[in-house]
Amino acid sequence: MAERDALSRGRGAERILYVPFDHLSFDHGVMRTADPATDVVVLVESERMLTGRPWHTERLFFLVSAARHFAAEAESRGFAVRYLRAPTTIDGLTDALTEFGNLPVTCAEPSSFRQHRALTEFGVEIIPNDLFLTARDDFHAWASRQKSFVMENFYRAQRVRLGILVDGEGKPEQGRWNFDAENRLPPPKNYEWPARLAHERDAMDLEVAAQLQHTPTDTWATTRAGALAQLDHFIEHNLAGFGPYEDAISNDDWSLHHSLLSPYLNVGLLHASEVVEAVLAAFRAGRAPIESVEAFVRQVIGWREYINGMYWYLGEDYRNLNGLNADRPLLPVFADSSATKMACVGGVVADVKKRGWVHHIPRLMVLSNLALITGTNPQAFLDWMREQFVDAADWVMVPNIIGMGVHADGGLLMTKPYASGGAYLNRMTQYCKGCAYDPKKRSGDDACPFTTLYWDFLDRHRETFARNHRMAQQVNGLNRLSDLPQLRERAREVLTGLDAGLI
Ligand SMILES: Cc1cc2nc3c(=O)[nH]c(=O)nc-3n(C[C@H](O)[C@H](O)[C@H](O)COP(=O)(O)OP(=O)(O)OC[C@H]3O[C@@H](n4cnc5c(N)ncnc54)[C@H](O)[C@@H]3O)c2cc1C
Ligand code: SF4
Repeated sequence: MAERDALSRGRGAERILYVPFDHLSFDHGVMRTADPATDVVVLVESERMLTGRPWHTERLFFLVSAARHFAAEAESRGFAVRYLRAPTTIDGLTDALTEFGNLPVTCAEPSSFRQHRALTEFGVEIIPNDLFLTARDDFHAWASRQKSFVMENFYRAQRVRLGILVDGEGKPEQGRWNFDAENRLPPPKNYEWPARLAHERDAMDLEVAAQLQHTPTDTWATTRAGALAQLDHFIEHNLAGFGPYEDAISNDDWSLHHSLLSPYLNVGLLHASEVVEAVLAAFRAGRAPIESVEAFVRQVIGWREYINGMYWYLGEDYRNLNGLNADRPLLPVFADSSATKMACVGGVVADVKKRGWVHHIPRLMVLSNLALITGTNPQAFLDWMREQFVDAADWVMVPNIIGMGVHADGGLLMTKPYASGGAYLNRMTQYCKGCAYDPKKRSGDDACPFTTLYWDFLDRHRETFARNHRMAQQVNGLNRLSDLPQLRERAREVLTGLDAGLI
């Protein structure tokens, strides 16, 4: 006790452990080797983080409250903790050094190039980041051996390396690597989606909410206990149905069978290994079918690790790519969900504004698709997505947007763009029935803007895509359109109307 009191006054400390707001773990990152007898724990709530951009307040609420709860938990575990408020992280660390003397500062590898550079220049010792399943060097070694960065190849190697759903010879469980044929169903009719877990707010949450002048939803937990409850809830109520409906969008429910675990995984409140272990245990106990278990495992050990690995592998300039020379400013609908008559776009943007989250298909096939085929500037769209989503971070948004969402990297990540017309959304969502537009029409006043712009996008980039053998069939489809002149005319009207918030 005396030792602790001395430390909390700043005497006797040997190291400062800097815990960024997305490293909130006692078992991983810099806290893994922490010792209350020698280490001071420092967190910095920087003004830049709070006010540097027009962040969604639900996102700020989640990040700040989770960090404050973590700091309180560290204190209750006997650590001397400084939760500092400062203009920047570096200012906060400077204050810590002033208080504790010139101690070494240690941090696990941070999650963006910018922060990595700032901390390194300040002299922070950076240790490997085990908050992911794949070390950055190991991913680099894998990527360096590839001719093209096909996620499926990485995922299969992960399954074998981690011994997940494979037999002793590295063959996939039940003879198949993927069960997509059983999944990807449209939203079912008359289906009862499981109830969602509501997270209650404690005094610390309410204090943060008041400071941010925000009324939080009950969607996001801000403690490890809450994150674990969300994991249990997912396994109990949603895992079995995860696979079949993972790509569906329903009007009755916004989270469907999705886990809602990304924010906790991304800030360190949960680790991918415990999430996957819990899912595999449910599978072994016969509580979920292989098609759902495999689909979920693929997201966590495949996509998530691949995206993080590629962020670091592709380098800092990757975020600035604009291979399709897209220069349209962000459409007004991104600021105001009512600035469109497109039911799908208005509905998805309204959902994002409400809780800072929609699942991967609205992100990809509605928001990114819209940005892609309208020729919206990739960096403007990336900034908006970064600001709006509760689970956003540089490492995860940059490849998901620049590579997967808007194909600004010329196909480095995905060999073809995820461009689509209204037919896909008509199949996978229930929006079209209540929409002013007709998903089957590509020209005329009531043509679906997605359908019109999909063809117009191919037309505008005909030469580029003709060189891509995976796009050849789609580009050839243009030659069969009898109404191409009318379609081009309608596309001009649609783009003008979207720019004015009238379509
Ligand atoms: C354009 C676009 C932007 C995205 N931006 C983000 C982002 O900022 N932060 C984020 O965490 N995810 C992002 N994703 C991935 C995915 O949409 C979210 O992880 C998912 O919707 C989170 O909800 P969930 O936890 O219910 O996921 P589930 O559907 O239950 O999936 C389980 C987990 O898989 C992981 N995962 C799946 N796909 C990806 C992926 N492409 N990249 C990283 N992790 C993945 C997540 O950790 C997720 O929690 C993005 C995807 C797209 C297409
Ligand atoms: S018709 Fe087109 S714009 Fe309307 S909801 Fe369907 S896909 Fe969206």
